[in-house]
Amino acid sequence: MTTWWEETSLRFKCKSDCFNCCEKPGYVFMDSEDVDRASGFLKITRETFQTSYLTPVNDIGVIEVTSSRPCPFLDSRGCRIHSAKPKQCQTYPFWPENLQSVSLWEKTAEDCPGIGSGPQISSSQIKTFLTDG
Ligand code: SF4
Ligand code: SF4
Repeated sequence: MTTWWEETSLRFKCKSDCFNCCEKPGYVFMDSEDVDRASGFLKITRETFQTSYLTPVNDIGVIEVTSSRPCPFLDSRGCRIHSAKPKQCQTYPFWPENLQSVSLWEKTAEDCPGIGSGPQISSSQIKTFLTDG
């Protein structure tokens, strides 16, 4: 079955002066691969990364973002682990819950000014985001 976003041209380009998705309260879930990549980038051990930055959940942990505590990797220029950021961040805003319907995508766009600008994102790229996220 073809989904609505396979029949529509979705455009997206992250705005360099926007940090909305990094400031929004919630959780950034990390898997083992995410922890390896981010801790390697920061040149610290997995254990130090987990104890310094993660709230324990299951075996790994999550980055907890609250209204009074933004993501610890967000600084005035943006994400300081940008090239090693978690898959959840790499794939935003192409998350299953945002792509469920046109109205949910439009709702996501209210907080994400990158939606609707930039290059057209192919449906195969979107499928990769959905698989990787
Ligand atoms: S909300 Fe959208 S435009 Fe803003 S930083 Fe996140 S992905 Fe980029
Ligand atoms: S890890 Fe980087 S991209 Fe992800 S929420 Fe934190 S600052 Fe934003």
